[in-house]
Amino acid sequence: MRALEAADPAHGAVNPWVALAYLIAGVCFILALRGLSHPTTSRAGNRYGMVGMLIAVVTTLVTHDVANIVEIGIAILLGGIIGFTIARRIAMTAMPELVAAFHSLVGLAAVLVGWAAYLNPGAFGILEASGDISAVSRIEMGLGIAIGAITFSGSVIAFAKLSGKMSGSPILLPGRHVINLGTLAAIIVLTGLFATAAASGTMPLIVALTIAAFIIGFLLIIPIGGADMPVVVSMLNSYSGWAAAAMGFTLGNTAMIITGALVGSSGAILSYIMCRAMNRSFLSVIAGGFGADDSAGGGGEAREQRPYKQGSAEDAAFMLKQAEKVIVIPGYGMAVAQAQHALREMGDLLEEQGVEVKYAIHPVAGRMPGHMNVLLAEANVSYDKVFELEDINSEFAQCDVAFIIGANDVVNPAAKTDKSSPIYGMPVFDVDKAKQVFFIKRSMGGVGYAGVDNDVFYMDQTMMLLSDAKKMVEEINKALGD
Ligand code: NDP
Repeated sequence: MRALEAADPAHGAVNPWVALAYLIAGVCFILALRGLSHPTTSRAGNRYGMVGMLIAVVTTLVTHDVANIVEIGIAILLGGIIGFTIARRIAMTAMPELVAAFHSLVGLAAVLVGWAAYLNPGAFGILEASGDISAVSRIEMGLGIAIGAITFSGSVIAFAKLSGKMSGSPILLPGRHVINLGTLAAIIVLTGLFATAAASGTMPLIVALTIAAFIIGFLLIIPIGGADMPVVVSMLNSYSGWAAAAMGFTLGNTAMIITGALVGSSGAILSYIMCRAMNRSFLSVIAGGFGADDSAGGGGEAREQRPYKQGSAEDAAFMLKQAEKVIVIPGYGMAVAQAQHALREMGDLLEEQGVEVKYAIHPVAGRMPGHMNVLLAEANVSYDKVFELEDINSEFAQCDVAFIIGANDVVNPAAKTDKSSPIYGMPVFDVDKAKQVFFIKRSMGGVGYAGVDNDVFYMDQTMMLLSDAKKMVEEINKALGD
């Protein structure tokens, strides 16, 4: 691609039509974010996002002096086919790792664009009359490359951890805080030197800057484990936005600046909200395991044998029929089993028999923000029966049955009492206050994401329903119908 002059406020006159088109695209992205904030409006939000992106891409292509439209067309087609195929095939449960993988591509793109602009500044319209790249452009370039490289290597590690290709436990290097701060300081110094050095001496600086940023991305994510992973995914989302915004400055592309800033700030806000929901310090997470306790293993602990009560679908159905109020707590296992439709059916059957049924959603239930809301919406569970943690937690004391289906960490009381637990501090549902607890999971051996035992299994009022979630709920439905 050559000369990016048309919409470039820094490097030439702004074409008002281009500015208007980018502005419309920006408004579409804002409406997309607004729409995506609630299940009822999320489809419309998605459509706004697609329209905005179409406007931005077409405007960029028609208003810039594109060197080879055929090559770009082929790249868009190939990328589109790959993206479409992956999106259609991906299981809902594998979404977080897919998102992490996509973030890594955004980061890598920012690094490559930065390098391309450095190697061929004339093509990007950032050459000054002196024949050199201005200090401001170099700072933008350095920042874009640094944030992009951090996003890339951090996202690759997040992908490996979330997909089980490497252990999810924190890897705590000795002296990691000093190493991290040192590497961060080196990146800042290298960016400053890169901005001010004579043109002939910049190559070693930009190489060192890129390598240091790749390393810090890796170092920041390896110490994060267990329950903090959701925050990391949304934080990397934010980084990828800032990388795109920095590149928008280098390319003088307003649409990229707006989009990058929207992604960056919404990702940062989501990370902050999730940290609050999990009672984690935002700073400790973004600083890379500052809060991680070297002794917190996050999984695979030896489990003592303790007595528990096991029941059948018929037992559960009988007691559910007697109940006045049932609160369902879905978790990751419901998603794995795809039990949401059977669960909705169970809710309908119980309501027909005069039982009040509510659904309680924890902010980090499942493996991505909103995971449970999406599945329940897919099964047509009415939104007015679905409640957030803080709105329903006080109701467990008045409920007859807490029906836990494939959830584990989000109901684990160790989060309230055990300071050595990796989930300590995360707010959890007070299921121990319910008269009865039904707990669906496949075996007593299986653990939740954080890998810790759960006292709820062994409570007097708990009945373990050991089976695949969908199979168990279908059997309960059959027994309810009999
Ligand atoms: P957990 O991961 O704590 O527990 C899942 C439970 O489901 C386990 O008890 C498992 O036991 C059971 N299970 C798995 N498959 C099935 C099946 N087919 N049928 C029945 N049960 C099944 O889930 P939660 O939703 O409670 O907690 C989410 C955890 O994931 C939190 O620690 C959170 O921090 C983390 N996380 C959340 C993200 C997010 O954004 N929401 C992203 C990344 C991580 P068994 O194997 O015995 O069946």
